[in-house]
Order: sequence, then structure tokens, then C-alpha cells
Amino acid sequence: MSNIRLYINQALHIGEQILFSEEDSHYLCNVMRLKDGEEILCFNGKEGEFRIVLTQVNKKTCEGEVLSQTQPFRSSPDIWLLFAPVKKDKTDFIIEKATELGVNKIIPVITQRTISDKVKKERFCAQAKEAAEQCRRLDVPQIEDAVSLEKYLTAWPKERALFFMDESGEGISAKEAFLAHQGKPAAVLVGPEGGFAKEEMEKIRQKEQAVSVTLGPRILRAETAVAAALSVWQATVGDWNEQGEKD
Ligand code: SAH
Repeated sequence: MSNIRLYINQALHIGEQILFSEEDSHYLCNVMRLKDGEEILCFNGKEGEFRIVLTQVNKKTCEGEVLSQTQPFRSSPDIWLLFAPVKKDKTDFIIEKATELGVNKIIPVITQRTISDKVKKERFCAQAKEAAEQCRRLDVPQIEDAVSLEKYLTAWPKERALFFMDESGEGISAKEAFLAHQGKPAAVLVGPEGGFAKEEMEKIRQKEQAVSVTLGPRILRAETAVAAALSVWQATVGDWNEQGEKD
């Protein structure tokens, strides 16, 4: 079997016929040069992962049939990432790493110092899909439309801890913060390259669910802060502690 793995937005049940999108058909036919009879893996964020045999490989419309289930569905942990988009390649890095590190939802937020013309939702979705396929997740993180941070915070869900990555050094350690809110829905907020404005920090700190967190004595780049915060969350209270199913 090829090690190709695709996210598709279709029901997956044994015996079901699959009609691949034009984009996926192009990938299977022209890029990977697969032939009829070859097998791939597909997941849809709902039913798990399945083995598919290709029955018709064409440039525009590939077809397949679901043969068997390879993994039951498991959703990613209930952690969101709120980040201020940075330069293109660094934002791509953030989306890719956040997906690999298992976030459930990604919310691009516009802060005072965010360069808002860098928000390209379609590109973010494509990055997340590709990263999810590669890292063997069973779902793709949901990507929200970019929104002003201030506005998003006004409707902040009551039960969700908001871990605010605070470069001022005044916060508590990430490990301590995450452990204190173990088992609760969570979100990590990372600021833009230029950092948060003073009054912005004040507003965030005033939120009842906000917890100021430090990531140590060095100032990290936004993309490093994202990867560091999510790694510590996963290692302390997330799914790095669960027994994984490996093949
Ligand atoms: N220009 C700012 C740094 C911004 S770093 C300055 O020099 O102060 C971008 C973002 O990464 C910050 O807004 C913060 O959310 C996060 N970050 C960077 N280093 C951090 C640290 N040591 N602790 C917590 N958050 C950090």
C-alpha cells in the first residue's frame, strides 16, 4: 500500500464509493502517479481512518472504494490556539506545528500590532489539511475567520482557560499554569512579532479566565512561543500522556 493519506469531506463506510475532489484527483493521478488497484488511506474527521482502493484514476475525477477501517475516530484534545498572524512563511510554520501538536481550533486574531493583510484563510486551511494528513491525525483543526482579539475576548466561553503567553515575565510557569487547570477546555494565546500593546495586556489580564504564563527568561519568536506552549501543554495535561496506538 502507498503511504498516501488524504483528508476527504465524505462519509467513510466499508463498501462506500468515493469520488475524490479535483484537487485530490490531480494529486493522486498527476503528482503521485497512482494507478487503478493501488491503495491509500483516508480520514474524514468523523469516522476514523480507512483503507481505500482506487478504482478509477483520472486527472480530474479519481474514484475509489472503502475496503476496511484502519483506525477508529479519536478527536484531538480540547485546546485552541489564538495567534496573531506574522510573515507568510512563519504563519505557515505556526499552522503546521499547531496541527502537529494537536490543536483543535485555530483562531487568527488581529491585535494592535498585527499585520492584518497576512490573513489568508484558504491558505491556512490548506496548510492544516496537509499537516493533518502527514502527522496521522484523525481530524483537521478548524480554522476560524480572523477576528479582532478584543472582540473575541468579549464573548469568551466561561469555562475555557485562556493561557496568555506573556513576554513581560510576570506570569507563572507554563507547567504550573496548565496543571492548575487540568481537565478544563483550554486556549493558548500568542502575540505578534511586535508583542502586545500595554493596554491590550491589561485587557487580557482582566478576563476572569485569563492566566498569564511565562515561557522562561528569553523572548521567543511568536512561532517558537506557539510550539513551546503547545508542547508543554501536551506534555503536562494533553495527549502525550496517553498510551498511543502504534502500528
Ligand atoms: N517584541 C516583543 C516580543 C514579542 S514575541 C518584545 O520584544 O517584548 C511574540 C509573542 O511570543 C509574545 O507576544 C508572547 O505571546 C510570546 N512570547 C515570547 N517570548 C515569551 C516568553 N518568554 N514568555 C511568554 N510568552 C512569550
